[in-house]
Amino acid sequence: MNKKTIAYARQSLQKSNRESSTRGQIEAIRKYCCTNKIEIDEVWTEVASGKTMKREKMQHLIHHIKQGYVETLIVWRLDRISRTTKDLLTFFTLCTDHKVNIISINDETLGYENSMDKFKVQILASMAELQRNIISENKVNTNRVKFQRDHIPFHVTPFGYRYINKQYVVEENEAYTVREVYRLYTEGLGYKKISRCTEERPDLVFCQPSHIRQILLNRKYYGYYKGAHGVVASIIPAIISQEIYEKAEQLRHSKAQNRKHTVLANLRRKIKCPLCNHTMTTYHNRNQTNSTPVYACSQRFRKQYHACSMRPIPISKLESEALYVIKSFLSTDEILKEIHQEIVNQLKEKQARSKRTEVEIERQKEVLVHELAAGNIDIKIFKQSIEALQDTTHVAEPHIDTDEVTLQKIASLIEQKTEANDALWQLVEKVEVDESGALSGVYLKDLSINILNRKEVMKYESI
Ligand SMILES: [Zn+2]
Repeated sequence: MNKKTIAYARQSLQKSNRESSTRGQIEAIRKYCCTNKIEIDEVWTEVASGKTMKREKMQHLIHHIKQGYVETLIVWRLDRISRTTKDLLTFFTLCTDHKVNIISINDETLGYENSMDKFKVQILASMAELQRNIISENKVNTNRVKFQRDHIPFHVTPFGYRYINKQYVVEENEAYTVREVYRLYTEGLGYKKISRCTEERPDLVFCQPSHIRQILLNRKYYGYYKGAHGVVASIIPAIISQEIYEKAEQLRHSKAQNRKHTVLANLRRKIKCPLCNHTMTTYHNRNQTNSTPVYACSQRFRKQYHACSMRPIPISKLESEALYVIKSFLSTDEILKEIHQEIVNQLKEKQARSKRTEVEIERQKEVLVHELAAGNIDIKIFKQSIEALQDTTHVAEPHIDTDEVTLQKIASLIEQKTEANDALWQLVEKVEVDESGALSGVYLKDLSINILNRKEVMKYESI
């Protein structure tokens, strides 16, 4: 029996722009196959979300692979197979087991030679994700325990409230500011102008523009709280009406749509000013047609423009340099193994610090991580076992240091996309620049070394 070469294309339900349509994908695949002298036996397309593998054609494909009918699978981009790293890994494992080649024609931008390298990057990303998963799952359990005991699982008490005797009470001075912020916003003032108002008016509490935005985004102000364990209506007293919140929200949406150029920046909050150590923010002069978006010291935007003399750095320049360093670093086998080990080690360290009651469960997790690292079990079994262990930890009091996990992290984890460059940017912990604006350090999450100074990267640069 001859094994088949199958081209698979998927488009999501809503999107119908040409580039991501199944027709566009198949055209691109055909062109690629023509150039590379690959013969396609069958073309499979479907319109379905990539968030789940429970798609008709995908299930059919999996069945075909299991039966050994497939030799090569060609896709336009890896995210056509799945949008979650977990499913992608499971699928890769299946393909490896049945000796199916995967060709993804549109991931060249990543700079990887073959699908194996891409696969390794995915593993790397997923290991980091996994570590966060384990932490955040524990965190959710902590919150569930608190929830059941009627403790409030907020991380911080919102501006406008005080937490007294396990209850949220309105702080009238701040609450007045909140109401004024909403009123001024619905009258058409922007974040910066409102911020200036709060600075100038003695009856208001001063708020930075970023804080103004947070206030306008916080549903708790009309008494709404939605946590991981459900919606609670009576946890926090309302400061404003739901009506005014929604009015502000509508305005925010229409403003966002009118904005023509949004600054795309992947290193937001990840760069500190080398002169004054303030976070560097993005800046783009929208009124000027040829303006270059830059990272600039936030100190210059606050009160005094002369407080810091750091020159702005063009976003595209810094990001392309950083991306080059990361790609160079990640594309060596040696490094991939090293990082993998590093993550495993750090996971072990964390586990060593855990409470005695959890030692046994932690030990089992560790064993699982080793088994996975050694290739004795696949990611599917691993995930299942971790989940099973997680069930037993419901009984025990979870131990995770809350500083390590923020609610935003959990939220971003839920929304995590697996598009290639996005995944790489997510690996970045921070980037350092020197006084001239040149890149001087790149740090990845869970890794404490500066990858810019690694000999492997230097080697790449000397070529
Ligand atoms: Zn500065």
